[in-house]
Amino acid sequence: MKRFEGRVAFITGASKGIGKAIAEKFAIEGAKLCIIDVDEQVLSKTFSEFKDKGFDVFHQVADVSKREQVEAFVDSAVKEFGKIDILVNNAGVIRDNLLFKMEDSDWDMVMNVHLKGSFNCARAVQRYMVDNKYGRIINLSSTSALGNRGQANYSTAKAGLQGFTKTLAIELGKFGITANAVAPGFIETDMTRATAKRIGISFEELVKHSVSQIPVGRSGKPEDIANAVLFFAMEESSFVNGQVLYVAGGPKA
Ligand code: NAP
Repeated sequence: MKRFEGRVAFITGASKGIGKAIAEKFAIEGAKLCIIDVDEQVLSKTFSEFKDKGFDVFHQVADVSKREQVEAFVDSAVKEFGKIDILVNNAGVIRDNLLFKMEDSDWDMVMNVHLKGSFNCARAVQRYMVDNKYGRIINLSSTSALGNRGQANYSTAKAGLQGFTKTLAIELGKFGITANAVAPGFIETDMTRATAKRIGISFEELVKHSVSQIPVGRSGKPEDIANAVLFFAMEESSFVNGQVLYVAGGPKA
């Protein structure tokens, strides 16, 4: 018996990077997947890849910051698979800049995707989870929640997600639903590639610099985060609630 046989996992921003790795691990462990992303081309490519691997996948282009799109997707996913057991709020963007150069649009975009998006998705799934008396909600925070130069918007959103996680844990615990957060450190994805580009260095240089500050002496891979997410999502983790797990190759917080 696979660990997530019979479970349905909804992962946002799952076409690439950390979200894709999370989706893939759930599917390998037997879960059915519901995935959304904003970029149609990349999402279709990932969907085809997953189908070729024999995964059971329901997908749609949807923007987490848009309540109607999220609710329509969740309702269709429940029609398709009968329920949603696991929600992973992974979709994310960065709009980095020093405070004095940060535009309103940079601030709003980051708040909308991370905070409003996670709120929209959690609110949409909770009624199905409450009915089933079972659920696992995992939010993607970040070590940036502890503060990071050039990320006033992103670190605020990622710290906000920790408060959101703890509140969901308190409100939903009695319905068999847990909420936890994974806070990654430096992970090699398009997001960190974009950071290298913005600061004008090669990705290899950025990786080398980051690794020099990571106690385990290597950078993180999307699978490292997926492993932590799966731990929180396990049925046996029912007494682990409202926690933030830093997955950064060394101590944080
Ligand atoms: P990524 O490679 O950029 O993937 C994020 C995915 O989310 C992309 O496919 C993106 O689409 C999608 N997305 C963006 N806005 C969306 C929206 N409104 N609705 C639905 N999907 C949307 O990033 P990642 O590195 O895998 O990051 C995944 C999560 O981990 C994020 O929450 C991020 O903040 C967090 N995290 C990452 C790191 C790291 O070092 N990589 C560290 C700490 C935390 P587009 O590409 O079209 O925008």
